[in-house]
Amino acid sequence: MEDMVVPVLIAGGGPCGLMLANELGRRGIAALLVDQKPSTAFNPQANATQARTMEHFRRHGFADEIRALGLPPEFPTDIAYFTRYARHELARFSLPSARDAMARASSQSGSWSTPELPHRVSQKFVEQVLRRHAEAWPGIDIRYGWRLLDFAEQHDGVTCSVACVADGRQQKIRAQYLFAADGPRSFVRERLGFGYVGETGVIRDFMGGRMYALYLRCPDFYTAVPHPPAWMNVSFNAERRAFMAAVDGRGEFAFHTQLRPHENAEAMSAADAVSLFQAAVGLALPAEILSRGTWTAGHALVADHFQRGRILLGGDAVHLFTPAGGLGYNTAIEDAVNLGWKLAAVLTGKAAPALLESYEAERRPLAIRNTGYARGFADSLGLFAPAAEIEDDSPAGRAARQQAGDYFNLHARKEFNIPGVTFGGRYDNSPIIIPNGTPPGDAANSYTPSGCPGGRPPHLWLADGRSLYDRFGFDWTLLRLRSNLPEAEQLAAAMQARGLSLTICDLFSDEARASYGADAVLIRPDHIIAWRSGGNMAVVDIVARVSGERRV
Ligand SMILES: Cc1cc2nc3c(=O)[nH]c(=O)nc-3n(C[C@H](O)[C@H](O)[C@H](O)COP(=O)(O)OP(=O)(O)OC[C@H]3O[C@@H](n4cnc5c(N)ncnc54)[C@H](O)[C@@H]3O)c2cc1C
Repeated sequence: MEDMVVPVLIAGGGPCGLMLANELGRRGIAALLVDQKPSTAFNPQANATQARTMEHFRRHGFADEIRALGLPPEFPTDIAYFTRYARHELARFSLPSARDAMARASSQSGSWSTPELPHRVSQKFVEQVLRRHAEAWPGIDIRYGWRLLDFAEQHDGVTCSVACVADGRQQKIRAQYLFAADGPRSFVRERLGFGYVGETGVIRDFMGGRMYALYLRCPDFYTAVPHPPAWMNVSFNAERRAFMAAVDGRGEFAFHTQLRPHENAEAMSAADAVSLFQAAVGLALPAEILSRGTWTAGHALVADHFQRGRILLGGDAVHLFTPAGGLGYNTAIEDAVNLGWKLAAVLTGKAAPALLESYEAERRPLAIRNTGYARGFADSLGLFAPAAEIEDDSPAGRAARQQAGDYFNLHARKEFNIPGVTFGGRYDNSPIIIPNGTPPGDAANSYTPSGCPGGRPPHLWLADGRSLYDRFGFDWTLLRLRSNLPEAEQLAAAMQARGLSLTICDLFSDEARASYGADAVLIRPDHIIAWRSGGNMAVVDIVARVSGERRV
């Protein structure tokens, strides 16, 4: 096959690679994406799309499409805890259905002021939407069934070999940048020799050890089980613990149980797998196994580096989570969001290549923060062990269930009500953020909106019912909160002179000025505040700093 020249080669078509393809495609940057699988994921994988991820999907115009996927619109997204799914219910954290979430978002304020509340949908459905939208951009070429075999960096590019998995055909690709989103066993990370920091091999009573994942269909579940439906179903008894996400609300589930040290998944038959599920239900319901596999819970690992020269890495290739809190895929999406506009700016000559160094500087600390939060949630869930008598019909059994219920009612709110985790990530030490003021503290369950550069812009609902975010541009936004601001005029002129696409958004209101603590703010394409008025930096230096030209 003929050699191919392309600005960006993306290795890996999971959520991270697909999101980067969308970020680049929309900015007119051509990219080739290869993934060795035949298509997007068959297994459900991640099940929770956090609100911040939904905001980014809204920025691209496909949040509604994603919210329509997965569970039926009226299906509650409760998190519920049982001894076994058909026996005692221990605790429940009620959360809105997709339909109610859309209605409820517009009445939320404070920590949860957002146009997009979280959505519970399996990653397999999200990937299909990301792929369809990426493929619609003229410069984006997506090839499933192709593997990255080799790569070598030169001063002006990266030469890569890719091969068709079906017939072995090989092609040489000459790219200016290689983005490796090649997942937890990243070949690129290994070849670059990047190590990990963090924790691995943690053993817990649950969510710490070898896990067995079953994707299954059990159409009788909702008629046989005497409890209201829930999105996440956790079983808690001395014999077997499991968590199980509803995939379609009609009987498909993603079931995960921890194997005992003597259990060997490879030696288990499909019938054995069904009986593990039946044990968690507490009823011998017929079930069909659609797929099964193993994974390890107990990682909180972050790679030493996210970049070497023209090779950048993101997603599971550089951070491994235990999935408590549902943060792995969401962190992967935000890696791509962070890098997309930077790569586009460098490739179009609007920013210096040094801008790309801010990717690792910003995302690596975030990955350390997020893996830390996930580890805390996994400890809270997994170290609380069931009392032996929890299923007994006795005063001791009732007391054990009461105690477990009290515990899980608190735990569920800690793990699943996390505006601080999803909105509160900040890039305070970034080389391209211009500090101004004291950043708010970081807490999982509450988020303090702040106009302090380095974080998410405070969200506001406008008088006409629109979300402020819908008035931001796809690239840079200068938000003016007061009229007659010479500094803002000069900044806009300097940004435009540099060729940076800038939307000017005027919102002259006391409420907005109070939220932002300034008269004007500069908002990056990834919806992060880069600068706010009130400092003393010259406009020329502001533009140089935010575009990576030099550290001023
Ligand atoms: C049980 C479970 C539940 C989870 N729940 C959640 C959740 O609720 N929320 C959440 O945020 N996260 C969750 N996660 C984590 C989430 O699934 C991952 O973090 C996410 O898939 C990472 O996306 P990625 O694009 O980085 O990598 P991946 O999705 O792993 O994609 C990597 C891709 O690279 C391809 N590839 C690998 N090598 C090559 C090569 N040499 N050439 C070409 N292609 C290659 C692979 O085929 C793969 O498609 C969960 C994980 C598990 C195991």
